[in-house]
Amino acid sequence: MIILREVLVMKPTKWMDFPRRILVGSNILHEAPLLLQDIGISEGAILMITGKKSYDICGSLLKDILEDSGYLVDVVHTKDVTKKEVTNVLSGIKEKGNNYDIIMGVGGGSKIDMAKLLAKELSIDYVSVPTIASHDGIASPRASLKERYEQVSIQVKSPIAILADTAVISKADYRYTASGVADVIGNITAVRDWILAHKLKGEPFSESAAALSLTAARIILKNAESIKPNLEESTRLVVKALAMSGVSMGVAGSSRPASGSEHLFAHALTRIAPGKGLHGELVGLGTIMMAYLHGINWKKIKKTLEIIGAPTSAYDLDLDPNDVILALTTAHRIRRRYTILGETGLSEEAAKTLAKRTGVL
Ligand SMILES: [Zn+2]
Repeated sequence: MIILREVLVMKPTKWMDFPRRILVGSNILHEAPLLLQDIGISEGAILMITGKKSYDICGSLLKDILEDSGYLVDVVHTKDVTKKEVTNVLSGIKEKGNNYDIIMGVGGGSKIDMAKLLAKELSIDYVSVPTIASHDGIASPRASLKERYEQVSIQVKSPIAILADTAVISKADYRYTASGVADVIGNITAVRDWILAHKLKGEPFSESAAALSLTAARIILKNAESIKPNLEESTRLVVKALAMSGVSMGVAGSSRPASGSEHLFAHALTRIAPGKGLHGELVGLGTIMMAYLHGINWKKIKKTLEIIGAPTSAYDLDLDPNDVILALTTAHRIRRRYTILGETGLSEEAAKTLAKRTGVL
């Protein structure tokens, strides 16, 4: 008798991590206690990480609402997201001897990044309460930390919940929202790069994560005309797209679905010319150029960014043309992530042609 032994080739175990609740709506801060109960925190102590401005426009009211419902709320105003600042906040917490049940990050990107890093250190969950919608960090399992002169991206848990009050977010400078839109549009080239890395380098690829990421970008492309300043409906659309983008990273277990060559370019430019342009704005410029390299409809991407009111040329952001070329030729060295830029990157001549043809320079 012949015994056939079936050998199953199993894929390695993969963890997916995404928010349990995403609440997006107008004037919904009063829903916070219900949201916390819903995720199993019906009482206890909350550490609120915020900044002065965010506290005034949102944190203070949120604190009152939570205290009225019986929670203890400690407010900590944080500065730049550095290792030193994380250590300072942690030692301050230790000194007080408080044990927190959950962290709430109330503010823009840096306050939510700080909440993410503290939650990781304290092994507790955090809720993301964005006051602006400038990038997909409001929902992603990645935190940006400033180390000396560089920004490093750290894998953290996804927020257990997101509470996005569109009434608050739509009052912020529209430039932030337009930047958030550009960050989501970057998903188009990020997914292209991912497919390339999968085909050429055998990198694991998740169909579902890529689909989520592209859906977020398509929502923006389809509704570009209706995204306008001071319009809560626009904010709602952008927040939902950003959240979807963040979730796609949770599904993939990495930032791959929402970060490719366009992000490498943006990060390179941030290193070369710190403080010029918001993250999403630089990603937008990168997306136009990387879409050109991928041979996809870069003109449509550029047009969409124009309609939204996001920058489409280096001059819109007062960037030095030499810095743009340097960022293009060095972007491939930012991290070991295979993209359309390949392993050797662009030559100076190719970079100049690319920037000129796409009108970025
Ligand atoms: Zn981004």
